[in-house]
Amino acid sequence: MNRICFFDTKPYDRVFFDQMKGEYGIEIEYFEPKLGPKTAFMAKGFEAVVAFVNDSIDKETIDILYQNGTRLIAMRCAGYNNVDFKAAYGKLHITRVPEYSPYAVAEHAMALLLSLNRKIHRAYSRTRDFNFSLNGLMGFDLHGKTMGVIGTGKIGKVFINICTGFGLKVIAYDPYPDEKSGIEYVTLDELFRQSDIVSLHCPLTKDTFHMVNPETINMMKKGVYIINTSRGALIDSEALLEALKAEKIGGACLDVYEEETEVFYEDMSYTIIRDDILARVISMPNVIVTSHQAFLTKEALHNIAETTLINCRKYFDDNVIENEICYKCSRGDSCLRKENKRCF
Ligand code: NAD
Repeated sequence: MNRICFFDTKPYDRVFFDQMKGEYGIEIEYFEPKLGPKTAFMAKGFEAVVAFVNDSIDKETIDILYQNGTRLIAMRCAGYNNVDFKAAYGKLHITRVPEYSPYAVAEHAMALLLSLNRKIHRAYSRTRDFNFSLNGLMGFDLHGKTMGVIGTGKIGKVFINICTGFGLKVIAYDPYPDEKSGIEYVTLDELFRQSDIVSLHCPLTKDTFHMVNPETINMMKKGVYIINTSRGALIDSEALLEALKAEKIGGACLDVYEEETEVFYEDMSYTIIRDDILARVISMPNVIVTSHQAFLTKEALHNIAETTLINCRKYFDDNVIENEICYKCSRGDSCLRKENKRCF
């Protein structure tokens, strides 16, 4: 048996990991705190550490983990914008789960849009209070509207299929378009100008940071809806708030938020929310915020546990880990993995 430790544990995380860990010869010590410079010491003596989207895997954290004997960080997610790959190179191998269920995220994006547009969340609260009035619940037909999809990878493509089923006209932007897909690609500016709804499905990188900002919002149609199930910092949240107040943006469906780290996944109902932008955005009648839950389906959690445990097993057995990633291969550059089995 090999021992690993697990940060930022919630009850739903344990279900599939506990079911499968024996099969992969792994024992797990679960920790509730997030991984970061103040908690990294807890991993002392664990060669492998499992981490998640809001853990802070910066240089300081990496150095503490390395000094205490950790050699692998197995991310139990697809995105890796919270990892300082340069600091990790040569010290910690990083693996991830590149795909666990694009359907989970794409379906959640559409669920948010349908709820917000047709005011399902409001109708639910009303009818539970025996208020059967329809005032204020008017939506619009999705059929015939233009959906702009930014990022046509695994999730973007599933989302496009769902949109097509609703009779939406889909246009897309991706710097690496899939020419064989039949998707209608346009420039990013054209997408912002033509779309009635914009849905973000690209990773957070230096190029995509705040891609929705005052300038790009200015290009959009009045009343545009924005869906973000990717990463919060794709949207400049101050600009989003201003555009909601000015009624330039007609609706926002947000599963992620740029300052989510301290609040998402926690019960903050007895706490004063210090983030005025988040508090004001949530107060808007035309905004739905979910707490980074788009991935939360049985199928996705099963696949996350399975791939993470396989990544750890391959590390312990000294096998090639297909899902290893470093700052070279994450940029598309060639890294040593091809000749060397590992990124370094
Ligand atoms: P993917 O790698 O399959 O696709 C990403 C696509 O974005 C690629 O086609 C890529 O070419 C494109 N892209 C890269 N740079 C771009 C740019 N500057 N502008 C536009 N497009 C660009 O990834 P995926 O599995 O489809 O996931 C997409 C994102 O969804 C992830 O990066 C992650 O941030 C997010 N995600 C969120 C959740 C959640 O629970 N909310 C779960 C999983 C993934």
